[in-house]
Amino acid sequence: MTSVDVAGTAVDTRHYIGGQRVASVSTFTNTSPIDGSFLGEIARGGAVEVDLAVEAARNAFPVWSGMPPAERAAILNRIADLVEESVDSLAAVETMDNGALLRSHLRGVMPRVALNFRFFADWLVNHLDHPDFETRGHVNHVSWDPSGVAGIITPWNAPLMLATWRIAPALAAGDTVVLKPAEWTPLTASLLADITKRAGLPDGAFNVVQGIGREAGAALVAHPGLSRISFTGSVPTAKSIARAAADNLTPCSFELGGKSPFIVLADADLELAAELAIEQYDNAGQVCLSGTRILVHESIEAEFTEAFRRKAAAMRQGDPRDPATDIGPQVHEAHFARVKGFVDRARAEGATIAMGGGPNTELGGLYFSPTLVYDPTPGSEIVTQEVFGPVLTMQTFSTDDEVLALANGTEFGLAAVVVSGDRQHAEAITSRLVAGTIWVNCFFVRDLRAPFGGSKKSGVGREGGTWSFDFYADVKNTVVAP
Ligand code: NAD
Repeated sequence: MTSVDVAGTAVDTRHYIGGQRVASVSTFTNTSPIDGSFLGEIARGGAVEVDLAVEAARNAFPVWSGMPPAERAAILNRIADLVEESVDSLAAVETMDNGALLRSHLRGVMPRVALNFRFFADWLVNHLDHPDFETRGHVNHVSWDPSGVAGIITPWNAPLMLATWRIAPALAAGDTVVLKPAEWTPLTASLLADITKRAGLPDGAFNVVQGIGREAGAALVAHPGLSRISFTGSVPTAKSIARAAADNLTPCSFELGGKSPFIVLADADLELAAELAIEQYDNAGQVCLSGTRILVHESIEAEFTEAFRRKAAAMRQGDPRDPATDIGPQVHEAHFARVKGFVDRARAEGATIAMGGGPNTELGGLYFSPTLVYDPTPGSEIVTQEVFGPVLTMQTFSTDDEVLALANGTEFGLAAVVVSGDRQHAEAITSRLVAGTIWVNCFFVRDLRAPFGGSKKSGVGREGGTWSFDFYADVKNTVVAP
């Protein structure tokens, strides 16, 4: 079987290499987190398929990188057009595959996939510019040259959005790409391959090798034919990729996990604070940027908690295809067990489970109830490690110094949320927070021109706007004598 029907859309289950579909001898089984239903047997690639894909990408490199930027941009815009035409089918397939809300995929995620291509096409043509400058009459001219083949490895929590956030700038920079999508969510990468073909992207410029991380993923990052490795995922995997990349000195960009603080200052609008706190459960808590550690000033704790509970009670958990659902299932049974383990151990250590705390008994399956862990043991794993499920912790503080020590007190530094009615107070806090992105009185507002990435163990490098080209391209300075 080389194609499966998922939510009315035919999805090819093979790799996409050099513009052709390629099967593997072995496969892995893909199921839906919504109800455990079988979705397909997916080609299980390894070193052989990775070799083929990197070779195809290397062969396509002169063709793609040799195209004038305006032509490359036109093809990327055509991909964006086709994504927009396919929003319904892409959204339906992604929801079956990763269990995230259909309404989010329709309204936010898939339009953003199209925007990823449009944005970097536009940036390539209209904004990639550095003014020449002079040194003793000599002109320095900075340019961004294509670098070669980018190996891109992505996670399952927002599969197509996160993949295209890396694929689009790599292609715009003139690189060719080999993508290894997450094995729990392989489907929309295959649909994207079809779209790139229809858009006229030269064969081999974009390749998909399906497979397991320690097999296809490990083979890809160890490949000497890559000019860049772009990885979004967990810290342990990043460490093993960095070791493999070291042998070839392949530059890496890492977007990793988080344990972001959500700070409610004494002067906060508490309705807004509670509203934003509930948003930290988005995507059933499977969001790297979530402010999962609520840090609330002791003087407003009771009032904030009341508002939070009221809003939490209005959340509906259920089938992510139902527009009335706010929170769906966890992506996979192994992940569900991991999330449950964190909460069970916190309870055993004496933390108060103020809300949820286990599987949703009415729904069964992979539905984990939105959970609030109150007053966790300081320094315990539930407040220092990434759970990546619908689990928030709550702690109180009395001074700015205390909240900053708590907020900065993990090995992560991806994001932070500060809720405050006083701009100066908020700024006094944000200026001392260690994080790649900080939101004040808002959450998840993303502008693709802005730098995005993590501090400390949350990442290496920044992407967005020119920062993306700085990574995928070879940045060159040409000095011309007078
Ligand atoms: P993961 O590290 O287990 O897997 C990510 C990808 O790496 C998958 O495609 C997997 O197959 C592959 N992989 C696994 N082992 C590999 C190996 N040895 N060599 C090469 N590739 C390998 O992470 P996950 O559980 O899929 O994703 C969740 C993590 O991703 C969380 O930590 C989350 O915070 C992080 N994340 C970060 C961002 C960000 O932008 N910073 C965005 C989304 C998710």
